[in-house]
Amino acid sequence: MSISRLACAGRLKSQVALITGASSGIGKGIAMAMADEGALIVVNYIGQADAAREVVGEIERKNTRAIAVEADVSNEGQVRRMFGKAIKEFGTVDILINNAGIQRDAAFDMMTLDDWQNVIDVNLTGAFLCSREAVIEFKRRGVQPEKSLSAGKIIFISSVHQVIPWSNHCNYAASKGGISLLMKSMAQELAPDRIRVNSIAPGAIKTPINKKSWETPEAARSLLKLIPWGRIGDPMDIGAAAVWLASDESDYVHGTTLFVDGGMTLYPGFAAGG
Ligand code: NAD
Repeated sequence: MSISRLACAGRLKSQVALITGASSGIGKGIAMAMADEGALIVVNYIGQADAAREVVGEIERKNTRAIAVEADVSNEGQVRRMFGKAIKEFGTVDILINNAGIQRDAAFDMMTLDDWQNVIDVNLTGAFLCSREAVIEFKRRGVQPEKSLSAGKIIFISSVHQVIPWSNHCNYAASKGGISLLMKSMAQELAPDRIRVNSIAPGAIKTPINKKSWETPEAARSLLKLIPWGRIGDPMDIGAAAVWLASDESDYVHGTTLFVDGGMTLYPGFAAGG
C-alpha cells in the first residue's frame, strides 16, 4: 500500500501550516501531505514563483486553501512580512515547518566564508527567525481546543547529518547539528506555553538538493549501499511523518528527532560484522 493511501484525511483540519521552501522537494511533499489532511497551506518560496504557483494550484484541487509567499528565510524583515501576510489571509499560523535549506559543498580548506555563512544563514538562522515569529503568534493566540491540544507545533527538517559527520560538507553538518540543540532548547523553554517542538531527520530523499547522488545508475548504486532499507526516500515519506508529528496523535512527542532514513543511521558499514 502506498504511503498516501494510508492517510486518514482530516487530522489537521482548519489548521494553518507555513512551510518554508515549499516550491520543491521535501517542502512540497509536506505541503501536499498536510493539504490531504485538511490544513490550509502557506507555501513559502524564493525565486521559483511559477513552481510555487503550481503547488498552490495542486493544493487547491484538494479542496483546501493555499497562498504562495516569497521570502528569504534568512532576512528578518522578509520573515516578519511573510508571517504578517499569512496571518492576514488565514487569521493565524498553527504549524511551522522549517524546511528551507541549502548546501554549498567544498573541501574544508577551500571553503569560503560566503559558503559557510550562506549555509548557516539559511539553514540555522532562517529556522530561528521563522520559529521566533511563529512562537510570538502561538503565544498571542494560545490553545484553541477545537483545533489542537497545542498552541502551536514547530517541526525542523534537520538531516541525518545532525549526527553523521560529513566530510566536504562541514558547513551543512554544522548547521544541522546546530538545529538539534536549537530544537531541544526551544522544546524545553516552550513546553509551558503548550508549544510542541520536534525535528525530522531525513536520510537520502530524491529531491533537487542531492540530484548528483541519484541521477546516474552508478551514483544511485553507491548511495544504496548506505541505506539498509534498500531504496531512496520519497518526499512523501517525510510528508507522512510531518503530518503525524503535527497532529494530536503525537501530543506526547516533544523535543525529539524522528529519523526517517531507511536505517542510514544504523552504521550500515558494520552490517557484515565490521
Ligand atoms: P530542495 O532544494 O528541493 O529544497 C530546498 C528548498 O529551500 C527549495 O525550495 C529552495 O528554493 C528553498 N530555499 C533555499 N534558500 C531559501 C531561502 N533563503 N529562503 C526560503 N527558501 C529557500 O531540497 P530538499 O531536499 O527538498 O531540501 C529540503 C530540506 O530537507 C533542507 O533543509 C535539506 O537540508 C533537508 N534534507 C534533505 C535531504 C535529502 O536527501 N533531500 C536529506 C536530509 C535533509
